[in-house]
Amino acid sequence: MNPVNDQVENLCDQYQQSIACHSIINKTLADHVRQCTDCQKFTKSMQLLDTFLDVAVRENSAPDHFTDLVMNAVIAESKRETTSWLGGLITSKFIENGLLSLGIVMSIIHLVRFFLGLFFTSMVAAA
Ligand SMILES: [Zn+2]
Repeated sequence: MNPVNDQVENLCDQYQQSIACHSIINKTLADHVRQCTDCQKFTKSMQLLDTFLDVAVRENSAPDHFTDLVMNAVIAESKRETTSWLGGLITSKFIENGLLSLGIVMSIIHLVRFFLGLFFTSMVAAA
């Protein structure tokens, strides 16, 4: 193997891992990406993916204090049936809250999968 190519591939790996993990890019990696079309393409893809995820999360955003509301409802429900914790958990209100949050989670997952599908289709088409 050509040691220069190995070093470049190593920089590509380091750079792409940093971008994927939203880590800080050091000067060496910043210099590398200016010359590396692979890493430039990767950066664009990640920015696109981030934008899609932002939109998906924003469009499915839970109301303010959603977690607090759900937790308070769960606590209130379980307090009502102190003789049986199972009875307190399995109430229509609890199931309703559970289904609501499950529905929100599922729609986020579907949106993310949809956009990931689009993203990879366009990647394959561009290659
Ligand atoms: Zn590179």
